[in-house]
Amino acid sequence: MMARWRVAGLVVGLVAVGVLLFAWVLHASIVNHWLAVHTGTVNEAGPYYGFWSGFGSDLAEFGLIGVVSTGVYHIVKKYNCHEPGCWRVGVHPAAGGQFLLCYRHHPDFQGKRPTHDLIQKLHQDHLANEAAIHSELAKLHGLVASPGPSSGDPIVEQ
Ligand SMILES: [Zn+2]
Repeated sequence: MMARWRVAGLVVGLVAVGVLLFAWVLHASIVNHWLAVHTGTVNEAGPYYGFWSGFGSDLAEFGLIGVVSTGVYHIVKKYNCHEPGCWRVGVHPAAGGQFLLCYRHHPDFQGKRPTHDLIQKLHQDHLANEAAIHSELAKLHGLVASPGPSSGDPIVEQ
């Protein structure tokens, strides 16, 4: 729900910027003669020629700025903390990487920056977990690989 409102806000903002630019372009020669001369809107073969070879040729660049800012917005959406309403950079994976969270919202850190002791403790926990998983796997592997009572020599087809 939040994300949808943000996207709507972005679209409204871009449209507003576009309308302002359009109005400014239309009234440039009235509002600011200096600007009109330096953007090539006057003192050319015709107003439209001047417009398209002057300021008008930059309109594509405004489109480019739009594309770039949309890209930046999506990058921010991808890397910011997944806690709703939080704009910190999320670098700590939670739930096996489903979420990227900032230190404040990661459940392991309890709202504080991870201290040296916490890092040590979590690292030891992680190693203990890995060791437990590996010993369980080794047990299972032992059960599967151990020869049963009936399996003797491999069957040789004739
Ligand atoms: Zn956060």
